[in-house]
Amino acid sequence: MYLKSIELQGFKSFANKTVLKFNKGITGIVGPNGSGKSNVADAVRWVLGEQSARQLRGSKMEDVIFSGTENRKPLGFAYVAITIDNSDHKLPIDYEELTVARRVYRSGESEYLINGHTSRLKDVQELFFDTGIGKEGYSIIGQGQIDKILSGKPEDRRELFDEAVGIVKYKKRKALAEKNLNIEKQNLYRVTDILSELE
Ligand code: ATP
Repeated sequence: MYLKSIELQGFKSFANKTVLKFNKGITGIVGPNGSGKSNVADAVRWVLGEQSARQLRGSKMEDVIFSGTENRKPLGFAYVAITIDNSDHKLPIDYEELTVARRVYRSGESEYLINGHTSRLKDVQELFFDTGIGKEGYSIIGQGQIDKILSGKPEDRRELFDEAVGIVKYKKRKALAEKNLNIEKQNLYRVTDILSELE
């Protein structure tokens, strides 16, 4: 499994449609200060479901949309798509290739697409659980993150190990099952109350 390409349009400094293609092995992105190198990493985080504008070095989500320059008007939407080679089927889907895309409009309206099909954020997250690729994964190590890992709280480090050994999806499912169980318990209490009032 490897990242084959990133397509950006209207995302931060990438006003025009731009496609970056990667091969297997190591690729370096070089450029002058402020030319948009970190914006590429932000785009990958964003398409994988990042919900925090701060993590994307902005103050609100709208900040990911191209805000214009002296010669160019702001754009109304941002779009990013990443294509992953899945010929080794490390991702739990039948497809040899996977494209995950996200689009957001200034109105706040947004959508995720998995291989062209409208999807939920949850679907995108579940696809990448325990692969190290998700927005919480360790496939993107940002500036300052190494310090965070080394000096962070034990719970934070534990999350990293959980992802590496592949138990995140079970923990998430357990948390969801416990939440649903709690709701059902509350419902049962209510029914018992009504029954005892009727008796
Ligand atoms: P450095 O080497 O200094 O870390 P960099 O190449 O990583 O720089 P980025 O931080 O990726 O650069 O890009 C910063 C540029 O992106 C700035 O010029 C900033 O004005 C531009 N930029 C960020 N958000 C937007 C936006 N919403 N619309 C237009 N331009 C934006």
